[in-house]
Amino acid sequence: MSSSAESAIHVSLLHNALRLHDNKCLSSACSPGASLVPLYIVTSPAPFTQTTVDSPISKSRAGFILEALGDLDKSLRKLGSGGAVVLQTRDWCDAASAAASTTTSTSASPSADDDDSSVASSVDSSAPAAAASAAPTRCDAEYAATLAAYLSSLSVASPSAPIHLHYERAPAPPLIRRWRHVLASLPPGLQVTVHAYDTHTLNPLDDYLKGKAGLLPNVLPASYGSFCKVFDKLPPPAEPLPAPTSLPPFPPSAVPPAPKSSAVPSLASLANISPTCGGTSAFPGGETHALERLNKKVTLSPSWAATFSKPATAPNSLSPSTTVLSPYVTHGCLSARTFYYEVLKAQQKHKGAITAPPTSLVGQLLWRDYNNLWGHVVGLPFAEMEGNSYCRQVPWDTDADALALWKEGMTGYPFVDAIMRQLKAEGWIHHLARHMVACFLTRGDLWISWEEGAKVFEERLVDADWSLNAFNWQWLSCSAHFYQYFRCYSPVAFGKKTDPNGDYIRKWVPELKDVPKKFIYEPWNLPAAEQKRLKCVVGVNYPARLTKAPDHTPVSKANMEKMAAAYKVHNGLGAKKPAAGGGGGAKKKAKAS
Ligand code: FAD
Ligand code: MG
Repeated sequence: MSSSAESAIHVSLLHNALRLHDNKCLSSACSPGASLVPLYIVTSPAPFTQTTVDSPISKSRAGFILEALGDLDKSLRKLGSGGAVVLQTRDWCDAASAAASTTTSTSASPSADDDDSSVASSVDSSAPAAAASAAPTRCDAEYAATLAAYLSSLSVASPSAPIHLHYERAPAPPLIRRWRHVLASLPPGLQVTVHAYDTHTLNPLDDYLKGKAGLLPNVLPASYGSFCKVFDKLPPPAEPLPAPTSLPPFPPSAVPPAPKSSAVPSLASLANISPTCGGTSAFPGGETHALERLNKKVTLSPSWAATFSKPATAPNSLSPSTTVLSPYVTHGCLSARTFYYEVLKAQQKHKGAITAPPTSLVGQLLWRDYNNLWGHVVGLPFAEMEGNSYCRQVPWDTDADALALWKEGMTGYPFVDAIMRQLKAEGWIHHLARHMVACFLTRGDLWISWEEGAKVFEERLVDADWSLNAFNWQWLSCSAHFYQYFRCYSPVAFGKKTDPNGDYIRKWVPELKDVPKKFIYEPWNLPAAEQKRLKCVVGVNYPARLTKAPDHTPVSKANMEKMAAAYKVHNGLGAKKPAAGGGGGAKKKAKAS
């Protein structure tokens, strides 16, 4: 039996914070004599999923997360920690039910953290009501049961050691729902103090709802411009924490009581990873690569970073024209605040004019907080059209064949196909490339719901983020945030501006690699004899254009009319102004300003 003087055990969840730097979950565990379990839980039904359903994700994203976990495991060991403990729910769920049925007595005893940016509570106080009340998915349930079982076994091994559970609060409603469930499932009687940190965004999201810049409290800034004014009125984001220089070891009497292995699993060992995509990430996962990339793109290129202007970057350059830091920020290999302060330093180093939001690099990071705020305030209905009062209700078509051809890069429009094939192979595509294919799928050509496109992105993007994805799909489909549906991307003209030779198409659509420059964006115009000679006969070697969009110009014009009609109906319903509380009864009572 352990003595009552047992020192504290800190269980730090690594989930959104796969890094040492600016990681409060780790630095808060560094007290003398304490021990540390850096924990990661892999849900078996659908590993790493963060959705409202337990859907599979691509190899590129799963591979990226495993690389990130492996990288962090190494870094942890170098600092004296025992390394990452990775639990697979399939190994733990029986143990979990056993633990749940044998544990008795009172509920967990979370206590308040004295740091302003951290809240400790058995329920997530900032959870929108919709997310809080939603039923957990199977992944949520298994995650909760596994964590409960693991904490119980720690407590059995060291009965008098106080247990602290640290996690970075994820703002996306599906994860808020998961955490509600996790915290509600902690075994009664288990003494655990829970610490949650709002470090995923530049500022805690609630700070944007404090009634700054002329808005009433709890009013969601309705435009990016008004959001930026609020940002400017707040104190600067907290300075990032340095990486710890040493870390506590595993608890002496509680060496990971995993029933099976607790090492970082291999990609091949995971079930339910979508088989068609990627496999090797073009951008390797992990904090080491994140910091190298930040150094190369920002620290060592201060003028590039300080004068960055998003519209001037190219969707189809062969090497990316933006930072490609999004996968690292999404999975927490790079702290958003570290990124932000490094950009500010670059601006100071640069002699000359600097760019400003919305197009600057700081502007991009502000878009990220703004998108997160929307998702957080609207709650689970944010990812849907119906039940989301902020979203235009558009009578989209259902067309499984056209959707499948779009998804696989087989539409017959070379620029669209090249982008969708890059997405499939690498998991990352440029922002304006995302614009092109999202517009094409929805209001531009195929008239298919943005929700369908968002699902494909959510599966395949290495940087998939619930709120950013929904916000941007709504924008591109002119369903919310942006309404100029008469401005449409042409799959023939748009790519030519930055890649007249079509090198990007030649790379990703090799069937067309020999097509002359003049026809590379529209191979159907290449004379038949030439198509034959070059072995790129449209309809044989490369698909003919989809029956739903046989010619972009008339199709997109007809779709604009349909959009005008949908807007009329929407406005007629008086649904233009969202009701207080947002779609689905968000707790914040948010209103559009
Ligand atoms: P940079 O231009 O180098 O920007 C720096 C950082 O700012 C990015 O790493 C990212 O964290 C943030 N950022 C940049 N652009 C945006 C933006 N428009 N909105 C919010 N934050 C931004 N981004 C995701 O991270 N996950 C998604 O699931 C996602 N889905 C999208 C879906 C569609 C339809 C569209 C049009 C855009 C989507 N984006 C998404 C936003 C954007 O395309 C990517 O963040 C960006 O292309 C990432 O590349 P980068 O890191 O080189 O960006
Ligand atoms: Mg300067």
